[in-house]
Amino acid sequence: MDSSSLLQPIQPKTKRQKTKTTSRHFMNTLQMANTHDYDALLTLFDRYHNFALSTHINPDGDAIGSELGLYLFLTKLGKSVKIFNTDIVPPNYRFLPAWDSIESTHSIGTYCPEVLIVLDASTLERIGKRLSKTLHPIYSLVNIDHHATAEAFGDINLIIPTASSTSEIVYKLIKHHQFPIGEACALCLYTGLMFDTGCFRHSNTTAETHRIAAELIEIGGFTPDEVYRNVYEQVPVAKIRLLSEVLSTLQITDDGKIASVYATQAMFRKAGMTADAVEGVVNQIQAIAGVEVALCVSEMADRSTKVSLRSQGYVDVSQLAAEFQGGGHVRAAGCRIAMPYPLAIAALVQASQRHTDPGHMRYGDCQKD
Ligand code: 5GP
Ligand code: MN
Repeated sequence: MDSSSLLQPIQPKTKRQKTKTTSRHFMNTLQMANTHDYDALLTLFDRYHNFALSTHINPDGDAIGSELGLYLFLTKLGKSVKIFNTDIVPPNYRFLPAWDSIESTHSIGTYCPEVLIVLDASTLERIGKRLSKTLHPIYSLVNIDHHATAEAFGDINLIIPTASSTSEIVYKLIKHHQFPIGEACALCLYTGLMFDTGCFRHSNTTAETHRIAAELIEIGGFTPDEVYRNVYEQVPVAKIRLLSEVLSTLQITDDGKIASVYATQAMFRKAGMTADAVEGVVNQIQAIAGVEVALCVSEMADRSTKVSLRSQGYVDVSQLAAEFQGGGHVRAAGCRIAMPYPLAIAALVQASQRHTDPGHMRYGDCQKD
């Protein structure tokens, strides 16, 4: 696609255009989805000076790594860049360069960037309801993501579902324009790549992922073990006690294919922790021999239910999560259900049984035609 046709003419958005939730807007941007149009983004980098970045609520290693990587890159280009996130940077990512430049929604005030770039979010609402209603770009909204279920909510949508991570897309964006990747930027992007591939062991890990990782290690001058230790080996003892309680709730269906655990508000209160403390537990459940669908269910403060889903071999959990208005990837997905957790578990197990049923269409079946 010719990038100039995407970008000409650009008029400042009116107040009405800034409201991004109309179906008309969705239809317009859908045509631009999956264009992999790095050039359109470069034109924005040439043309504008004020950029804001954001990512999804409860940010993980890829969310933080990709936005800090892009922040450092744009700053090097001489741009004025601000990052606004709904949630704070988890302590285990505070070794990353420039992590303390990430501001909260309260700091936005009347600030309007010329360009807003949303990373790794799947939907605009997932940057946080308040943030999505407060932060509006004057000229362009850019969406960079690798989720298969990502909505094309941007004026430019760089959605690459085959990429291991959003950090990999940021890496490719910088490389595409033959800009040097700085040391600090390399560390951030490597952290995102490492996190989203489950330390290079999930099915989204390819030879190319390893090649990119190797290059980032060489540029960044860090060692993989120091990044791993920072991200995964700063666990408070209270978290281990919480996990032992959560694991003791394990239930497995009679056919052995669906396993679930849950964490309640009472458990979080006792441990002095919040729902993000159970991140990663679902991977342990998924590792049980014979289990196809693993569910980790958390009771939230508003009594809604947050769910992490994983699959072992053939169930597309992004489709399963979509039945509950969530999304994600084929092997890892999530959703939020407006039901008390026991009812949510029952509904999830029932839906999972449909997907593990031998009669159900398998992932890949639809690709034959
Ligand atoms: P996790 O279980 O690690 O929180 O998330 C697994 C994957 O599902 C991630 O790629 C994440 O972005 C996606 N995901 C998690 N929760 C939600 C959700 O509520 N909505 C959508 N669309 N995706 C989600
Ligand atoms: Mn990601």
